[in-house]
Amino acid sequence: MPSRAAAPALLALLLATAAAAAETPAPQCGAPWSPAEKVVHPRAPGAAVAMPDLAALPAAAPLAPSLRGSVRRVDLPPGVKLVALTFDFCETAGEVAGYDGEIVDELRRRRIPATLFVGGHWAATHPGRFGEMAADPLFEIANHTWSHANLRFAEGDKLRREILAPEAAFRAAVTGPICPHPDARGATQRSKYLRFPFGACDARSLAAVADAGMAAIQWDVSTGDPSPFVSADAIVATTLASVRPGSIVLAHANGRGFRTGAALPRILDGLAKRGYHFVTVGELLAAGRPVITETCFDARPGDTDKYDARGRKPNPKPLPEPQKPGIPGIPRAAAPSGPSAPAALPLRPSIVKPTP
Ligand SMILES: [Zn+2]
Repeated sequence: MPSRAAAPALLALLLATAAAAAETPAPQCGAPWSPAEKVVHPRAPGAAVAMPDLAALPAAAPLAPSLRGSVRRVDLPPGVKLVALTFDFCETAGEVAGYDGEIVDELRRRRIPATLFVGGHWAATHPGRFGEMAADPLFEIANHTWSHANLRFAEGDKLRREILAPEAAFRAAVTGPICPHPDARGATQRSKYLRFPFGACDARSLAAVADAGMAAIQWDVSTGDPSPFVSADAIVATTLASVRPGSIVLAHANGRGFRTGAALPRILDGLAKRGYHFVTVGELLAAGRPVITETCFDARPGDTDKYDARGRKPNPKPLPEPQKPGIPGIPRAAAPSGPSAPAALPLRPSIVKPTP
């Protein structure tokens, strides 16, 4: 125990150490994972991450009309049992988030494919780990915005940068000196998918993402893993009770999936025992018909409005009118997926409430 007199000095040392770590995350490439990498650090005051140049980005064709909207899951042919596990690597401007190698290593050990939604900030501060994952054919890399902003409050240049800067950061990471894998994100490659931070979008941001050539991929099963109060047992139980064929499962591998690493082996065992095969989001979309809604949400329409407190001003534009019946990908109705996810459904367009 430090003495009372030594406590302020110890605190100052700890803060200085955290600040130093925030500015210089370990530039790992190929090194064994250490649990210290999972720790999320506050960013040192004034230490901003430079946004990469967007000018050299390759062009991307706008998204096909059939994929516009918020993809929640995929309807599959009868008897086909596929599930897509997705892991978010979120990082805000005020922190240096972690890398959860327990998750990545377990997926690699079992050869389980997954889609990784990576923030541009995260790729910029973890170029080594990003380079490794981008070069691994097991993983599909997707976009999770530049600084994990609530895009309901972004417009113009800010909205454009939040959507496109990750693409430039990904290229910079794999062509830089830390962990070069230039073939992993070739000169013409752009992400096909983006996940909205907080699961919050509006008509303007949905359109901007689609115009940038990406489908908005949300989820129908949330593991609940970013809460430190959710146990591994609860994550396993929720996930196994909620997954159905065509599900997209949300989890975190940025240090805020507090028990995800402990839960993952049991989730993989449990789903495999139930006859599921694991695929990337791209493979899942190719296997069936996407279930698309016109708003973004967690379990029920409107439930991500609470994150509007993170925006700077009220959302100035209303959401669009409900889409017309018969548009491909819009479900007429869906059955509840299980007792732990009763709110995921139904998704009839007529009951999807506009968000204030
Ligand atoms: Zn996130």
